[in-house]
Order: sequence, then structure tokens, then C-alpha cells
Amino acid sequence: MVSPAIKSLTLEELTADFARHGEPAYRAKQVTDWLYQKRVGSFAEMTNLPAEVRRRLTDEFRFVKPEVVRVLGSRDATRKFLFRLADGNLIESVLIPASPALYGQTSDRRTICVSTQVGCAYGCKFCASGLEGFSRNLEPSEIVDQLLTVEQESREKIDNVVFMGMGEPLANLTNLLQAIRIINSPWGLEIGARHITISTSGLAPQIRKLAQEPSQFRLAISLHGATDEVRNRIMPINRKYNLATLLSACDDYVAQKKRLMFEYILIAGVNDAEEQAHELAKHAHRLSAKVNLIPYNIVEGLEWSRPSRQQQERFLSILREHQIVATLRREKGQDIDAACGQLRLQTKRLEEREVA
Ligand code: SAH
Ligand code: SF4
Repeated sequence: MVSPAIKSLTLEELTADFARHGEPAYRAKQVTDWLYQKRVGSFAEMTNLPAEVRRRLTDEFRFVKPEVVRVLGSRDATRKFLFRLADGNLIESVLIPASPALYGQTSDRRTICVSTQVGCAYGCKFCASGLEGFSRNLEPSEIVDQLLTVEQESREKIDNVVFMGMGEPLANLTNLLQAIRIINSPWGLEIGARHITISTSGLAPQIRKLAQEPSQFRLAISLHGATDEVRNRIMPINRKYNLATLLSACDDYVAQKKRLMFEYILIAGVNDAEEQAHELAKHAHRLSAKVNLIPYNIVEGLEWSRPSRQQQERFLSILREHQIVATLRREKGQDIDAACGQLRLQTKRLEEREVA
């Protein structure tokens, strides 16, 4: 069996591990300090631990770090990081300097968009991540390492985390929640729950599970269609959990005094009709949800495109006529600001070509 990655453990689990070996509990805190405060790259650098403790940790745990393959973008714009994992798989993270549209408020904060799986099994028709199918879940450490490595590379502190990269976070719920514990705790990366957003394409049973979680992180529902007809066309998951099932799970979530928001990509001729805006407003009203409208990012090899600016604004104004709090993303830099999954796909195809 492969040994666990050290960055997949919470302080409590590490403390229990030290206790099992008859070692003092404060050693566990020393380890998390080295990992998340001083940010060392090996057990050997944990110099206040006795040599035999370091040896035991080396035997018992893996200390891995993703390799940075490519960084795209400039300092004041969105930057994409492509990582190679220990087993050769590629994942990506995106660092966004300020992203008001994600929160519906102005902000000078830095947001990281994190991947939770290699590939995605849900195969939404418009998405690059789903194009090559699903490979595997990320371990908690591989999720946490995206933040650690991006902070190290950019020398910038991350304020917000959105799980909107490659993969379906709720299909990897156990590892996701473990990673969030590490990201959220005072001994870890210390990012507040309100600054952490999970995005899902609509896994209804897992949304009900999340409703029971004590922590106040944010939840975004990728709706992208306000009727079953439209959702069925672009999101295969809707055939498993249709709109009524999804919205009823959302009711449960909201009943726990938690808030959620809708994400709605605008795709020309697919989901941008006025009737969709009216229907969307009904759902948003029912759940007191904010709506983030996102003009579609072109994916190479896919047929979809974004509606005209005028059409986008019209859609937004219909939502507002219904008193819905809604934003429309109007950022520039779409050349690299493309949705997560696209950089990986390009690199994979390039490498395949080189091999061929
Ligand atoms: N699987 C989760 C989280 C990852 S996708 C989910 O679907 O919610 C994060 C967001 O990016 C989702 O709202 C997704 O629909 C959106 N997205 C995917 N491809 C896109 C594209 N080409 N242009 C704009 N947004 C896209
Ligand atoms: Fe997977 Fe989300 Fe892309 Fe759909 S939109 S294929 S669920 S990553």
C-alpha cells in the first residue's frame, strides 16, 4: 500500500500519530508549522525534530510537491499554472487578481481557482475538462499543494479559493472536505470559510450532505439552463438529477440557513433566450440566490460561442427586473482567461503529437 501524503493529514490526525509512537503532541504542531508557516520542501529541513523522528516520518509518509510545467499570463492579469503530479498527470490552477463577478462585489483580492480531479466524468458538452474523460480523484495534499505552490511561485498571498477548476468537487467529497479543513484551519493556510467556494454541476445527494456540514463555506450551483430541456442538451448529469431534484436539494441546503448562488454561462442560441432568464429568475427567487452570468469561453474543437454583448446585457436586465441580484462578468484577457481544463488539454495534445 502507498503511504499517505503528509499534506493530506490534519493536525489532529498527526497528533494521534505521534501519540501512537509515544512521542509528545507538540511535535505534530512543529510539523504543521514547517509545512504551512515556514513551507519547507522536505522532512530533512524540519530541524527542530530529532533525527529519528524525521526518519520515521520519511518512512511513514510521502512528501510530494507538484512540478510547475508552465505558467501563462502576466502579473496583473489572470495567470494559469500547469502542474505535473507525481504520477505524471497534468492539472491546472488559475490565479485571478480580482474577480468581482465571482462574489458580486468589488475586491482587490486574489482568488485561486483549484482543480479537484484529473479530468471529469460528467461530460458537460461545453467544457474542456470533460473532453478527455475522467482519470482520478486528487488527494487532499494535491489540492492543498495547488495553493502552496501558486503562493510560492507568485509570491502573493491568496485570499479566496474557488473549486472551479478541473473536475467535479462533490464527486470527490471526502478528499475535498479534508483539503478544506487544512486550508481553513489556523494551523494550516488559515483561509476563512466565507472565502472558500465550492462549485457543483448539480450532484443533488451530495448537496444534501453539504447542507449538514457545520462550516460556512460558499456553494455555487452551475445551472447553465433554467429548464430540463436546455439542461439536458448540455449537461448529461441532468438526466440523473433533473432540475426538480436539484432544486429540492438546494431547498434543503437553504433551509439550513446556508446561502448558495447560481452560475450561468451564456452560450449563444442554447441558453440565452429571454424565457430562460425569466425561468432562472424564478429559481433564484425561490432560493434567494445570487446569479453570476459568465459569457462562454470558446473551447478549441467545440462548436459553442458566446452571445453578443447586447444579448448578454438583455439577459442581465431581465433578471434585475425580477429583483434578482445578478452580475455579468465583463473581464478582458479571454485569451488566457479561458476556463480551467483548457491549458491542460492543449499541453496533453502537444505532448501526444511529440510522441507520435
Ligand atoms: N465541476 C464543477 C466545477 C468545475 S467547472 C462545476 O461544473 O460546477 C467551474 C465552472 O466553469 C462551471 O460553472 C462550469 O460550467 C464553467 N465552465 C466550464 N467550461 C466553461 C467555458 N468554456 N466557459 C465558461 N465557463 C465554463
Ligand atoms: Fe465536469 Fe464541471 Fe466541466 Fe461539467 S462543467 S464537465 S461537471 S468540470
